[in-house]
Amino acid sequence: MRICAATGNAGKLRELRRILEAQGHEVVSQKELGITIEPDETGTTFEENALIKAETICKASGLPTIADDSGLCVDALGGAPGVHSARYTGNHADSDADRYNLLLRNLGGRDDRAARFVCSLCCAFPNGDVLTAEGTCEGTILSAPRGENGFGYDPVFCVGEQTMAEMTDAEKNQISHRGKALEQLEDFFKTL
Ligand code: IMP
Repeated sequence: MRICAATGNAGKLRELRRILEAQGHEVVSQKELGITIEPDETGTTFEENALIKAETICKASGLPTIADDSGLCVDALGGAPGVHSARYTGNHADSDADRYNLLLRNLGGRDDRAARFVCSLCCAFPNGDVLTAEGTCEGTILSAPRGENGFGYDPVFCVGEQTMAEMTDAEKNQISHRGKALEQLEDFFKTL
């Protein structure tokens, strides 16, 4: 199946593409289709925001369209940055390092470092059908970044002995929130 990926985030696109292409699908990004719309993420949950993005870009692309809304929820910060993960510093133009450094400052020396990544996926079809799935990945927040791979908060998010930025893409996809959510959609996609 030819699927449009409704994201401008290069890290998300690389991971979605790797998994969906391994399942035999062709992935084309909204950018490759010349679609520059960036839907307002006005939802209060990951699921609502994924639905907004998938339905908006599906209308523009005319293709089955998959959108990912995801983020990092830190227990000691009451679940922040959560749905605001991409704009945690208040400025979209800031770097991933600006965002994870702010997180480390806000967490300070607290002992409770438990956190999870959450990914809601929504696939919207031109006939109006919609599929959703959610995946989570439990981990802890380090006090300093480690690793060069991945994107976003990966250098400070540790699963077992490794940060997600120390894993290869394949290792991360095996355990990640995004990998788990895509796994749930896989069985349905096979029937198409
Ligand atoms: P949005 O879904 O476009 O609103 O943004 C999600 C944000 O959450 C990203 O910009 C990252 O900062 C963060 N995020 C989501 N998934 C991951 C991941 O797999 N690794 C690291 N950060 C992530």
